[in-house]
Amino acid sequence: SSLLRKEVEQTYIMIKPDGVQRGLVGEIISRFEKKGFLLKGLKLFQCPKDLAQEHYKDLKERPFFPNLIDYITSGPVVCMAWEGDGVVASARKLIGATNPLQAEPGTIRGDLAVQTGRNVVHGSDSPDNGKREIGLWFKEGELAQWESVQTPWLI
Ligand code: ADP
Ligand code: MG
Repeated sequence: SSLLRKEVEQTYIMIKPDGVQRGLVGEIISRFEKKGFLLKGLKLFQCPKDLAQEHYKDLKERPFFPNLIDYITSGPVVCMAWEGDGVVASARKLIGATNPLQAEPGTIRGDLAVQTGRNVVHGSDSPDNGKREIGLWFKEGELAQWESVQTPWLI
């Protein structure tokens, strides 16, 4: 029954302004696309300051917080919602370590970035935060309905 069914896992992935400005949108989306998760939401978006502050509220006491808010609001970002079992941890693996110099080659940050403050992509750190962040960045009606589409490649 629906009471016993595990809730479907989703993660919020965002290409940060440096990734957009450097022309890495296609490259970054293709990493998630090729992995095989289900794309639920996708848009180019100029983030207002209050949304950036809410998104990163757990970091508001950190010394880099003001720079982080300036960075995220410095140009359009690409917002994505991806779905599937294990998608949160798997996306974090594809993204790599926060400091791109410590990120493994083959990861997005390991291949495409050098600075922690310009690390091209965000990924939620837990299923609960995935749900929270998708709720922040997407409005009702912006997420795709895949229910009537056959998606056997996901099983
Ligand atoms: P992650 O994005 O890997 O989950 P955090 O949640 O710790 O990393 O930090 C959020 C974002 O804040 C990082 O991706 C990075 O853009 C920025 N950030 C984190 N630590 C620093 C730092 N020491 N200096 C500058 N920016 C930082
Ligand atoms: Mg984080």
